[in-house]
Amino acid sequence: MKTYKIAAIPGDGIGGEVISAGVEVLQALAKREGHFAVAVDTFDWGGEYYKTHGRMMPANGRDLIRHHDAILFGSAGHPDIPDHVTLWGLRLAICQPFDQYANVRPTRILPGITSPLRGVEGNELDWVIVRENSEGEYAGVGGRVHQGLPIEAATDVSMFTRAGVERIMRFAFRLAQSRPRKLLTVVTKSNAQRHAMVMWDEIATTVAAEFPDVTWDKMLVDAMTVRMVMKPQTLDTIVATNLHADILSDLAAALAGSLGIAPTANLNPERTFPSMFEPIHGSAFDITGKGIANPIGTFWSSVMLLDHLGEAAAARRLMAAIERVTGDARFHTPDLGGHARTTDVTAAVIDAINGANS
Ligand code: ATP
Repeated sequence: MKTYKIAAIPGDGIGGEVISAGVEVLQALAKREGHFAVAVDTFDWGGEYYKTHGRMMPANGRDLIRHHDAILFGSAGHPDIPDHVTLWGLRLAICQPFDQYANVRPTRILPGITSPLRGVEGNELDWVIVRENSEGEYAGVGGRVHQGLPIEAATDVSMFTRAGVERIMRFAFRLAQSRPRKLLTVVTKSNAQRHAMVMWDEIATTVAAEFPDVTWDKMLVDAMTVRMVMKPQTLDTIVATNLHADILSDLAAALAGSLGIAPTANLNPERTFPSMFEPIHGSAFDITGKGIANPIGTFWSSVMLLDHLGEAAAARRLMAAIERVTGDARFHTPDLGGHARTTDVTAAVIDAINGANS
């Protein structure tokens, strides 16, 4: 029997609560499927680890997870530690060296969930946002001089490479091609940013020629926010830079009902390194320890993890279980206006996996 090695990194805040729920669900699913097992190694990296060790993960941390089949990540952040330290010290310290350059964020209004967009039904909002995850505005290029002095200066330089843009465009076109509508929107800002964003547009046009069956258009990022709200049904697959997609995907998650539902995959499509799956939300310290974190974002991320491992049938079973549970308001956590607890939702999804509440 195949055993998948999963590295679980719960991180901070509600990360611990949702990842243990996710692991429970993966184990139940493996048992139900019967033809594979899941071996989970849990790593206590994050803000608390930083307070003891002065770093977010050990120096050899990546070596410890390098040979796992996938990584399930919660959230990293700590009220006492600056966000850029926690982000660069853990999440980006994994994503970048593991070349997880394609960040994929599906957005859909699940059964039973009400979108804040008036009158928008489930099938009118079905998007996948592809975020360039390795360079661009978050390349980490820049610096500060004269720190603390009145003449202090600081730069963050966007870095776009032809190879980096080509590979994300190709990934996005291929993904668009695999979806029924074969529709791609390339988000840009080439009116104001006349170097890298113009190259981004040019490369989109070149790569588009390889995918004659994909209909595509180009949209300025500011206009894109309006289109997402006013005409959600005109969008399907979306590709955007690291910064643009970061912002647009939070908007997308909110439009789909709650930040607690949205999943994401940081993919290394060539599989040279493991890929990482995580809910889109952060540490949510306001609800940490209360037992009310919505675990659906982690469960949906686990669907993406299973798909990546080639376990398509298990992925479908889990997604169906999630949809059955969101469709029942008894299992809505407070972020969805309900009273359910994390453990209630987890138990209901496991029951659905086992066919108990079908
Ligand atoms: P970060 O800086 O780590 O991204 P943040 O505070 O900006 O954190 P989140 O931690 O995602 O963003 O939280 C934003 C809001 O959404 C908070 O009020 C939080 O309680 C809520 N929230 C986020 N995730 C969940 C979840 N899984 N279940 C319920 N509520 C959630």
